[in-house]
Amino acid sequence: MSRILIVEDEESIADLEKDYLELSGFDVEIEHRGDVGLKRALTEDVDLVILDLMLPEMDGFDICREIRAQKNTPVIMVSAKKDDIDKIRGLGLGADDYMTKPFSPSELVARVKAHLARYERLIGTGVQENDIVEIRGIKIDKTARRVWINGEEKNFTTKEFDLLTFLAQNPNRVFTKDELFREIWDMESVGDIATVTVHIKKIREKIEYNTAKPQYIETIWGVGYRFKV
Ligand code: CA
Repeated sequence: MSRILIVEDEESIADLEKDYLELSGFDVEIEHRGDVGLKRALTEDVDLVILDLMLPEMDGFDICREIRAQKNTPVIMVSAKKDDIDKIRGLGLGADDYMTKPFSPSELVARVKAHLARYERLIGTGVQENDIVEIRGIKIDKTARRVWINGEEKNFTTKEFDLLTFLAQNPNRVFTKDELFREIWDMESVGDIATVTVHIKKIREKIEYNTAKPQYIETIWGVGYRFKV
């Protein structure tokens, strides 16, 4: 069953949309807050998002931009103002469709079905989702070589990215600095195992809330490092 997330702060509208979509056989979730809506769209298994423009904490412009930066989930944006719809189109945020409130619920259902069908065709014709590794608030897009920490994108150098990805893909295993150096740096490269220590320090500064008490990459004294799950 397709799962729809409605991000809408007006309860009566959200409930109406939900009722109609459920009657059509969809599994529907409602979120009233913008920032939480974004988080859920990114972390939960959602097949389509119906996104209101004006929302508490974070508006639909930013939410749409963020979803599109990370996922291909279809987004239908809704707004009470026709002007806003023109503005959204002009911004090129990557929304798949736009609707002006009030709209008829059956029109919404029809568009939801159309976008889900189109998206499934897209997936089916070989447009692959990126290769993603996700662990407790860290999201690594291996295809695009991008990293988000709690939804916020951080920049990593090539080796930092390789090292973080390698550890995250092999969680709960302890690696010695030697092993990591051999894995990430080819033997001809200049440097020694101290390079590993330096890179771990830089990665921690980007991913850890408190580098003195790392929550992700643990130091196993006298041995090496381990990515904790
Ligand atoms: Ca609103």
